[in-house]
Order: sequence, then C-alpha cells, then structure tokens
Amino acid sequence: MSFETLGLSASLLRALTDLGYATPTPIQSQAIPVVLSGRDLLATAQTGTGKTAAFALPILQRQFVNAASDGEPARGPRKVRVLVLTPTRELAAQVHESFRDYGRHVRGVVTTTIYGGVGMGPQLDALRRGVDVLVATPGRLIDHIQRRSVDLSKVEVLVLDEGDRMLDMGFLPAIRTILEKLPKSRQTLLFSATFDDPIRALAAQFMRDPGEVDCAPRNTVANTVTHRVHPVDSDRKRDLLLEILAVDSRRQTLVFGRTKHGCDRLAKQLEAAGHRCAAIHGNKSQNARLKALRDFKDGRITILVATDIAARGLDIEALPCVINHDLPMVAEDYVHRIGRTGRAGSTGLALSLVSPDEGGLLRQIQRLLKQELEMVPIAGFAPSRPIRMGNDAPMPQRGRAGAGQQPPRKHARRPHPAPSRHAHAGGKGEHDTGRCNGTQRTPGSARSGR
Ligand code: AMP
Repeated sequence: MSFETLGLSASLLRALTDLGYATPTPIQSQAIPVVLSGRDLLATAQTGTGKTAAFALPILQRQFVNAASDGEPARGPRKVRVLVLTPTRELAAQVHESFRDYGRHVRGVVTTTIYGGVGMGPQLDALRRGVDVLVATPGRLIDHIQRRSVDLSKVEVLVLDEGDRMLDMGFLPAIRTILEKLPKSRQTLLFSATFDDPIRALAAQFMRDPGEVDCAPRNTVANTVTHRVHPVDSDRKRDLLLEILAVDSRRQTLVFGRTKHGCDRLAKQLEAAGHRCAAIHGNKSQNARLKALRDFKDGRITILVATDIAARGLDIEALPCVINHDLPMVAEDYVHRIGRTGRAGSTGLALSLVSPDEGGLLRQIQRLLKQELEMVPIAGFAPSRPIRMGNDAPMPQRGRAGAGQQPPRKHARRPHPAPSRHAHAGGKGEHDTGRCNGTQRTPGSARSGR
C-alpha cells in the first residue's frame, strides 16, 4: 500500500515526501479511503500511530484539493469548513501544525487553533480574518461561540480527536453545545483509544452509519519493553529516582507523577540535583507546556515530569525510558504511559517505583497486562513493609505463575543501565507496521473507574 494508491493528490504527496513519510501506517491505509468516500468514521487509534494524517490528508483532499479542481474555490468570506475538537491544548497545537505540514502545497487553506490559557486577542483576530480549518479545545470554543466570534454554520467535517479522553475529562456537555451549532448534514469522524460504551453512545447520537476502523492496541505493550518494579517506601522514592537517573543522566526520560503539585515539586528537586528537567501539567501555562515539550524533544532537557492528562496526546515517541514515580490510578494509563517506549522494535525500559500502599494498583496493572512485572529491589531502598497485592483476584494466564507478593530477591540489583539503542524523542517516521485489528472489539477492554 502506498500513499499514491490511496488516491491522494500530487500536492499532498509532495508534502509527504518533504516530511519523509514513505508508506502509510495501518490507521492511514484503513481510514483514508473511508474519509475520502465522505462516510462518517469511527476509528480507534492512539497518538503515535499516525492518526492525525489519517484524517487530515483525506480532509484536505476532499475539502480543498477536489473542491478547487471542481471549480468551487471559496467565494465570499471564509467560513470554517473543518472543525477538529481535541481534549488538550497540546494536541490542538500539534494537530494544527500537522494540518499546516500536510497542506503546505495546497493553495489557500487557512488553518488556526484556539485553546484556553492564552489571550483571546490573536484568536479573535484570526477568526475575524477568516479560517477554513479550525482546531479547538471545547472550553475555549464555547467562549467564542458565546461571544459570537466564531461561525460554525458552514462546517462540513467535524473531527472528534481522542474522543474517549474528551469524555473522561467531562467535555460531553460542551461537545453537545458545540454540535448544536453545526449543520446536521456533515461528515463526522470520531477517533478514540477505545470503542467502549460511552464512545458507542456518542457515535450513535451524532454519527450516521459510520465506517469502523480498529487500530487500537489490545491493552498490551510492545514486547521490546522491559518492565521493572522497584519496591520502596513513598518517602524514599525521590532518592531512589535520583539513584536511577544517575545511571545515565543523558538518557531522555519521561517521569510520571500523580499530582500537579507532586510533579512540580519533583521537577524542582531533580533540578536542584543537577538534572535538566521540566514539569508539565494542567496548571502550567500553555506557553510553558509547549516550551517544555520543545526543550525535551530537542534534548535541551533530558527529564520531563508529567501527569497523565498532560502527557496524553503528546507527540513524543520512541523514548528509551519511562519511569513511574507513582503508579497510575487506572491500570489502562500504565499502558498509555509505557506506550511511549519500546516502539518500532527499539528497546525500552519501564520502571515503576512502587510503595507498599500501591500493591492494589500494581495488581490491577498485572491483571490487565496478563503479565507479572519483575520485582527488582534496589540495595539500600527496601521498603519498611512488604508490598501486598491481595489474593482475592485470579492471576493472569500469561507470564510467570503465582500472583500475590513476590519473595524478595536474595541479591538486590543496581538500577538497570540504559538500553543499548537510544531512540529519539519526537522524531518522525517510527511506527508499528502491524495491521489493524478486525473491526469487532471484545467488550471488557473499556476503561473503568473514572
Ligand atoms: P500522530 O499519531 O498523528 O500523532 O503521529 C505520530 C508521528 O508520526 C508524528 O510525528 C507524525 O509526523 C508521524 N507520521 C505520521 N504518519 C507517518 C507516516 N506514514 N510515516 C512516517 N511518519 C509518520
């Protein structure tokens, strides 16, 4: 399968050549024909799979390349024809940038992005000048709707990106309000990490006979990832983290914390210990978040400390190491976190600092992965009490036998050295080349407990 055989025009193919994309990713080869046909689409795919191009390319083709060659260039003032809703500001900025990249040789397409946390002025100016493709977060878009600074009456395509996360973040009422402003006859594309019930309900309400493409990973992580659990008391996690980071201070590492405050404090402590590091979370200004991400991708900082929500949707791929300073509250987030390492055959290291009170969370993760994570005590950091995972649940079929608590190892290890092959952060072109799943999903992969 090539981009040519998908029927993309020369102007889009040129942009793809500029960007160095040789072949479509699985989500692209499956979704592009559906979108080009004008049909609604329900697709499961996560960030990092090339899903942005999977909708941006066929939208540009249909709405701008085909329309222009059909002799229908935009007449009169520009009106928003394409609306993309994303859960986070970072994702909005990235999708906006992608539309610009992919549409760079398509004439006359004006794209802009609007999100909260930054001044209204430039957004009002951009909307006043006229926009074809608008990428927005729901909250700020509602502000503009209320001010009557945006007209959505001519929208022909709506994309709901990371729909599951938008629902998790409580955006359903905002999405409803926005949808009321859109024409009924339009093409709607819904991208989500899962096809669980709330997503199906959303699709049933707002979509017409959507085609389905399922490219979501099955709650599994690449088998090139080495998982380690380091048991430690909570109040010694920071020291252990410093010890681990000292093994290779040049290694690009994403550290996950649970709270905004905790991430800030940790970043400060790591900085005080001489690491080049930044924190991203919901309380950071948009500019601070974008700067941190840029610095991390460009290697100016080596450690990014993030909360789950802030890290969701970030275009960071193929990291050598992810460290869970705290386990996530929801097991599926472990998969999201770890999905950033061990990609496309590169080796990855996923380390979790687990305190005795996190045994239940660890058990849920192991059950989800159907795999027991290797428990590796580090000398000098043994916790004051054992990690109890309870024994009320059946243990996974796969992986080593015996769930519950692992006996402590006789010989405690030093932290693991860096994996031999260092991958890059934020680079282009590394993808799973596997095929998408069938369109039927098994129930039970739904996220729970949110
Ligand atoms: P996304 O899942 O849309 O966030 O894309 C993840 C990364 O993959 C981005 O850096 C894209 O620029 C890159 N990408 C998307 N499609 C391709 C492709 N067909 N070949 C190589 N890289 C791609």
